[in-house]
Amino acid sequence: MPKEGHISFEELKVDFGYSTFEGSLFLYTEEENKFRQEFRKFVKKEVEPVADRIDREENFDLIHEILKKMGKAGYYSLAFPKEIGGGGKGLVYRTIMGEELTAISYATAVTYGASAALYAMPIIKFGTKEQHEKFLKPIMHGEKLGAIAMTEPGAGCDVVGGMRCSAKKSGDGYIINGEKRFITNGSKADYLLLYVITNPNVKPNEGISAFIFPTNTEGFKVIKDYELMGRRGSKNSHLAFKDCWVPDICLLGQENKGFNILMSGLDGERVFAASQYMGIARSAFEIALKYSAERMQFKRAIREFEGVSFKLAEMYSLLEASRLLDLRAARMIDADRRATKEAAIAKFFAADAAVKICSEALQILGGIGYTKEYPIERYYRDVKIGQISAGSSEIMRFLTQRELFREIGL
Ligand SMILES: Cc1cc2nc3c(=O)[nH]c(=O)nc-3n(C[C@H](O)[C@H](O)[C@H](O)COP(=O)(O)OP(=O)(O)OC[C@H]3O[C@@H](n4cnc5c(N)ncnc54)[C@H](O)[C@@H]3O)c2cc1C
Repeated sequence: MPKEGHISFEELKVDFGYSTFEGSLFLYTEEENKFRQEFRKFVKKEVEPVADRIDREENFDLIHEILKKMGKAGYYSLAFPKEIGGGGKGLVYRTIMGEELTAISYATAVTYGASAALYAMPIIKFGTKEQHEKFLKPIMHGEKLGAIAMTEPGAGCDVVGGMRCSAKKSGDGYIINGEKRFITNGSKADYLLLYVITNPNVKPNEGISAFIFPTNTEGFKVIKDYELMGRRGSKNSHLAFKDCWVPDICLLGQENKGFNILMSGLDGERVFAASQYMGIARSAFEIALKYSAERMQFKRAIREFEGVSFKLAEMYSLLEASRLLDLRAARMIDADRRATKEAAIAKFFAADAAVKICSEALQILGGIGYTKEYPIERYYRDVKIGQISAGSSEIMRFLTQRELFREIGL
């Protein structure tokens, strides 16, 4: 029954996640749906009670505790191959986890993602057995953390062309110098997957190498952690490397072949990122939907005004379209199909849709949406980064048109 006067978030009793099952049950296999239910229970128990505190207190320790619990429950290494003790699941499962975790705490999801996906996946694919043992095993239980370090002060969207951080051969190892910035988990990571220039005399994509960099190496320094608009509680850092020597075992793949490693994981990471934007948007939508049925103005529930209900219809359709695009790309990648175009579309569509959905959800809540009484303002702050990082919405559009012309041979 609609209620006159103030409605608290607790009174609204939103059952997070119900819209996934109402609309999308048939898109997933029975096993995938079962896994989602099970993981959602875990998130409800372990993440939901502290999600707000993580943001308000910028409390990284709470996030780390959750990751360790994910480690114990086997979720952290769900997508790692069985041979090294993982769950052997593919990208579709990772998108389910990405969506469910982000639906409650984006800061937790990105801390998990930077380590268990962005750092780990290329090492799983290109690393030797020895590297798996030394650099993957320690992070498989959420105790130690990894991060990916590509971006630099002068290398953003043009991360390959603008890269200056470099490594030079020195005895049975390499000396690394330079800077990286905006690195998720940077100041907390035990290891970085670090991309550097090893041959400055060729085209950038022919002179890049990937290293696994232990952050206890002498000469490594955290310049600072950025204060962020959203994802508060997660860490994002500016890092410096001064004459850091690492042994040969830290080189991932072959010298100067790092570009292939960098590119190989990007499509999957975009699909994973898109699932996270869907998670935030879904929660924002669900709160707005319920609130619109409870909030009275002009002696009616506000959902009875077309100005509100049509917004909800559009928000839901954007959410469902994001899911279809993302799931298609995930299934293509799980089937080893090239999905650069599909992943790029899924990412920019989901990011743009999520920004719109969170903004409209806040609008539907009116003034209370702008306060910290409801988590909507957190979602609104969190969601914007989706259009910027892991390939901006502009770059995703660029890739989409490039792939289209490539397909017709132009
Ligand atoms: C919170 C956060 C977390 C991040 N995590 C990581 C991480 O873990 N590891 C990592 O390596 N990096 C990370 N990044 C970096 C992120 O990927 C970059 O911010 C992103 O690539 C954009 O680079 P930039 O910020 O330097 O923007 P710029 O490259 O300076 O771009 C500025 C604007 O110009 C537009 N633009 C640039 N080139 C073009 C073009 N050719 N056509 C059209 N528009 C263009 C961009 O879309 C953008 O709108 C993170 C960033 C943030 C803020």
